[in-house]
Order: sequence, then structure tokens, then C-alpha cells
Amino acid sequence: MLTDLTITEARDGLREKRFSAVDLTMAHLQAIEALNPRLNAFITVSHSQAVDQARAADAALAGGQARALTGIPLAIKDLFCTAGVKTTAGSKILAPFVPPYESTVTANLLRDGAIFLGKTNMDEFAMGSSNMTSAYGPVENPWKRRQDNTAVLVPGGSSGGSASAVAARLAMGATGTDTGGSIRQPASFCGLVGVKPTYGRCSRWGVVAFASSLDHPGPITRTVRDGAILLGSMAGHDPKDATSAAVAVPDYEAACARSLKGLRIGIPKEYRSDGMPAETEALWQQGIDWLRAAGADIVDVSLPHTKYGLPTYYIVAPAEASSNLARYDGVRFGSRRNGEDLRDLYERTRADGFGPEIRRRVLIGTYVLSAGYYDAYYLRAQKIRALILKDFTDAFTQVDALLTTTAPTAPFAQGENMDDPIKMYLNDLFTVPANLAGVPAISIPAGLDANGLPVGLQVIGRPFDEETVFAVSAAIENAASFTALPAIRAGH
Ligand code: GLN
Repeated sequence: MLTDLTITEARDGLREKRFSAVDLTMAHLQAIEALNPRLNAFITVSHSQAVDQARAADAALAGGQARALTGIPLAIKDLFCTAGVKTTAGSKILAPFVPPYESTVTANLLRDGAIFLGKTNMDEFAMGSSNMTSAYGPVENPWKRRQDNTAVLVPGGSSGGSASAVAARLAMGATGTDTGGSIRQPASFCGLVGVKPTYGRCSRWGVVAFASSLDHPGPITRTVRDGAILLGSMAGHDPKDATSAAVAVPDYEAACARSLKGLRIGIPKEYRSDGMPAETEALWQQGIDWLRAAGADIVDVSLPHTKYGLPTYYIVAPAEASSNLARYDGVRFGSRRNGEDLRDLYERTRADGFGPEIRRRVLIGTYVLSAGYYDAYYLRAQKIRALILKDFTDAFTQVDALLTTTAPTAPFAQGENMDDPIKMYLNDLFTVPANLAGVPAISIPAGLDANGLPVGLQVIGRPFDEETVFAVSAAIENAASFTALPAIRAGH
């Protein structure tokens, strides 16, 4: 089936004229039509635009003008502004918002010939780990527990629609954003590769802001090489984003083939949490053995401030979110509820437009930034953030990359972990430190647990050294030879 091809394979097939971009796009649009009513992975399907783009791609291919992604059908998280295509951020407050501009990352993908199938579902404003906070309904994970195919599992979040779509073969790859784990955790939950590059590698311009100092756009794909291809297109300096880095984008695809001989890989002892399932721990050990067999030296390291990562994140992220969300006042963007006076209009608009998780974050954020508590919470969190960065800087004097697990658990069922927000926040235990430090990290599917559900391992690297992270990730992928298919594609 055309939808089973990787991006790498499809690129070759298109160039060798084995099929056309229209064939490839139609195959994906048909898969979306068949499965999206169940999965709810897409909020918007841009059918006619995708067909137009595919025709243009075929013309470029015929004229010998193919670029890196010409004819490759992708899904775009509904946090990226797409010119003329509704962009909701998973929120009711942005339900009517049609951006007049294109985000830099999606513009880069279009420049390289990609086809956009539509916009994917997500936790509201990217706040969540399960996709359960979306105003557009929950997303289904195409994987099922081996013994129980009745439980509907979450795809993770917040880029859950992107992950579900790529796992179910509704798109060849997708964009995501990762503020505390939202690319890597859904990738781990859906048996995919999730790439969070270095902070500043991909422009945030035109991406609806959650927590600006933590937000990282990146790709979700089925293979490491596909992730390298997409990141190569998405990345690059952008003068419109003041935090975008003027650093040349290397050839990530070539980096996937690098040898690990002589590389030192650190195993941080603080990532061995008490409640970690035995199988996850066993898979981590398996990963260590694979890397040793590939020629790397394994070194035990310590990142002593790891335990402060989660509390620090849940102060800094809501603080920035409360400030970023202030712009949704019913006057400039999205939906409006009229009121008796301006203040009443603001209050009605925001009370009606924001879901409960957003309201919780705004309350926490404004509290920790308030005059009386700023020093006790926000300022202290910023100091701890600096120590977390220093942990990584120190570790990287001894090792070239770190290997950890991605998520503390396998995918859970819809409705689970919903009674207590702290339980949901615990999903982010192993992913938030890399956001606080801005260092690159990739989640790779490493194996299945006893329920037949995917488990991911995480590789973390030095700032702007995604190449080493890709090389180590590719070595894990080769050793794991993860070929299991989600239930929806395995025919049950
Ligand atoms: N789950 C985390 C949160 O709710 C991270 C989300 C993200 O990375 N966007 O904040």
C-alpha cells in the first residue's frame, strides 16, 4: 500500500515515476476518509488544497525540479498558522480563526514541495499529555492492548492528532510542538520517532505560543531518517523570531549513517524512577546493550537537579502561558461573547472560550507572577532552571549523548489519569528537563510491553548537535528493528 511507504521510500518512488504525487495524496486522503471518523486525528482536512499541491508537485517532478519533499503528504498540528486554513490550537476560542499568514516552519515545508493534508487535533493550546483537553474531542491511539481491544487508548499529547495520524498511515509525517514533551511522549505512545531539536533551531514565528522559552517545533515520523529529512526542511534561521539561531543546518540525513565508535553515552541515574515498570527498565537496559554493541562506551552520569524539573516546568510554563494567552480577549482574535462593557466582554469571552485546563494554567501562572509571590515561585524556578541546564552542561563534558526512557508509562486509556491533574503532569517527568535546558532530544520506538504497546527510548544531546542524537537514534532503530504495526493496520 502506498500509505505504508516511508518518506525516504516515497521520495525514491516519486522520482522513479512508480507512482505520482496525486496517487500518493489520494491514497492518504482515502485513508483519512475511512479512519478519521474513528480516530479524530484531524480537525480540518484540506482536501482540495492537497490535490492542487499534488498536481503542482507532479509538474515539478516532470520538469526535473523536485525538491527535498516534493509530493510528500504531511499533516500539520493545528498550532501552526496556515494561510487561509483554519487554525484552532485545539481551542474553542480560536474556532473561527483563519490566519492570513503562514508560519515559517510550514512555509519551509511548502518551499520544499510538501503537501498538506490538513490540521491535526491536539490538547487545547498544547496543554496536556493525552489529547483529552481538546475542544474538538479526544483522539484515539491506533494501538490496542493485546488482551483487550475494547479499551480506547490515548495517543499522548499534546501532539496526539499528529502521532495518531502518522501511526495509522493517514500521513507520512507530521509537525508537532514540544514544550514539555508533546512531540516525544506521543511518539513513544504511538510507536513513532519524535524529534525535539535544539531551542532556536526551528522558528516559532506563526506557531501559536504556549510558553515561549520552552516551545520547540519538530517532526513526528515513522523512521529516524524520515525525521532527519523533515527537520532539515523545517529548521533554519528566521529573522522574524528573535530567539531563532543563526546556525547553519547540517545534513541530518547523512548523520543517521554515522558510526558510534568512540562515542560516550551517559546513563543518568536520576531517570531510574521508583514506579518505573519492570519492562520499561528492561528495555532501557536493552538499549544500553545495543549501543555498546554498536561501539559506544557507556558511562554512568548524574544530573542531580532532575527531580526539580517537573515542579520548575509547572511554574515557568503556566507563567509564560498566562502572559501569552492574555491576547485572547475577544477583540483581536477568534471568538467573542458580547458583554455589558469591555471588561464584561473580556470575561465572558474567556470564560466561554477556554477549557478547564487552560483556566487552571492561567490561575497558576498569574499567581506565580503576582507581586507577592514572584520571588518565592517564578524567580526561584528560573534559578533552578539554570541549575538544570548546568547539569546537562556538566554531563556533556564527560559524554556525547544521554540515553533515558521517554515516558514513565505505556499509553493509558481515555478517562484514566483524569481525576488528578498532578497524575497527568507526571507523564512529563523525563521529557521536561530537555525543554528547560533547550537541548535536542529524540524518542525512538524500542520495543513492546507485555500488553503489546510501544515503549520509546530517549536520546538527549548537546545544543545544536542533533547530528549525534540522530546517529545514536538510528543505531537504536537498527538494533530494535521495530516492525510491529498498530492494531488498526494489523487488521484487528
Ligand atoms: N504535557 C505538558 C503540559 O501539559 C507538555 C505539553 C507540551 O509539550 N506542549 O504542559
